[in-house]
Amino acid sequence: MTDTNIVTPAEQRVATAAPTKVTRAYAAQAPDARLAPFQIERRALRPRDVQLEILYCGVCHSDIHMARNEWGQTIYPVVPGHEIVGRVTAVGDDVTKFRSGDLVGVGCMVDSCRECVNCRKGLEQYCLVGMVLTYSARDRISGDITYGGYSKQIVVDEDFVLRVSDKLPLAQVAPLLCAGITTYSPLRHWNVGKGHKLGVIGLGGLGHMALKLGASFGAEVTMLSTSPEKEADARRLGANKFALTRDQAQLKELAGYFDFIIDTVSAKHDYNMYLGLLATDGVMMCVGAPPTPAEVAVFTLITGRRSLAGSGIGGIPETQEMLDYCAEHGISSDIELIDIAYINEAYERMLKSDVHYRFVIDMASLS
Ligand code: NAP
Ligand code: ZN
Ligand code: ZN
Repeated sequence: MTDTNIVTPAEQRVATAAPTKVTRAYAAQAPDARLAPFQIERRALRPRDVQLEILYCGVCHSDIHMARNEWGQTIYPVVPGHEIVGRVTAVGDDVTKFRSGDLVGVGCMVDSCRECVNCRKGLEQYCLVGMVLTYSARDRISGDITYGGYSKQIVVDEDFVLRVSDKLPLAQVAPLLCAGITTYSPLRHWNVGKGHKLGVIGLGGLGHMALKLGASFGAEVTMLSTSPEKEADARRLGANKFALTRDQAQLKELAGYFDFIIDTVSAKHDYNMYLGLLATDGVMMCVGAPPTPAEVAVFTLITGRRSLAGSGIGGIPETQEMLDYCAEHGISSDIELIDIAYINEAYERMLKSDVHYRFVIDMASLS
């Protein structure tokens, strides 16, 4: 590391314990730009800040949506990455939960109002004022752009830092910080488990975690995929059944079959086709976030009192619970470890569903 000390006017507005750090990163400068090396400044430590050296960062499909401004909210330059695992290198004077050397994680958010009814319940992701995303958002104090995990280090308030066990390989733990919690949270909310039939749509980053977690909670899990070559892996990951969703005959056999379906699809697709696979009172939990709105035929819901629901990541307490659960049960992500210079190719492969089942960046490759 050859970090230089630079203090920006924005940093001077807050009480600082140390100068800011110039940090190597990868950023997109515009929706149609490839990600490329870029230097950012991390803020000087505030009293309750934790600074960590990033060891690994998972590559979520949300990183692609955001880098390309597909959700219309991106602030450029954007440094994506919200599946961060690292080691604490410094802490502010008032930090009580962490110390240098601890293994920690940071997920999709780095702050929230802390006072609204949802924040008080530990549902910071549904903060009524608005959570602060790990990247492409504005810091609540300085107004600076937040930059994510495709970088060497990050500074985060201790309340948004998670404790990571050393029981599991760290690179495989990184995807739990988004893909893990985003599937754990709805499965827990709807108490999916023994005696339930669960369908998982899309065998990518979120889908493979939904499969592992659903099986671990005791549900019978069926993988609903567009990729026939993923069947063997789906079964290895815990699927009891596998159905090709492009084959109408296979879908017909599953009509009215599932108590729950978790939809992790990143692109435009037909929700009605999958809603028809729900049993009476079945729930389809949408976590995949295609940029375009979808049409839903309400009669599919009415005829079986079916529910179409959504779920966003998970709060800080539940994220810690999920990390602890995964450490205890030996659950982590199946990954392809990449150098950061491969990131643009990784995006192209994810867009073709060629992901097995999460790309994780080895941050040692960022020099
Ligand atoms: P991913 O790794 O790229 O996996 C998506 C999978 O969906 C693909 O591998 C493919 O699986 C399937 N798929 C792709 N296009 C499809 C289509 N047109 N029709 C049917 N299936 C299709 O993506 P991810 O990282 O898991 O993220 C998935 C989505 O969740 C993204 O939209 C992301 O932004 C969103 N997300 C939401 C939250 C939240 O809080 N709700 C959090 C994180 C991510 P098969 O090959 O098996 O068909
Ligand atoms: Zn994500
Ligand atoms: Zn709040």
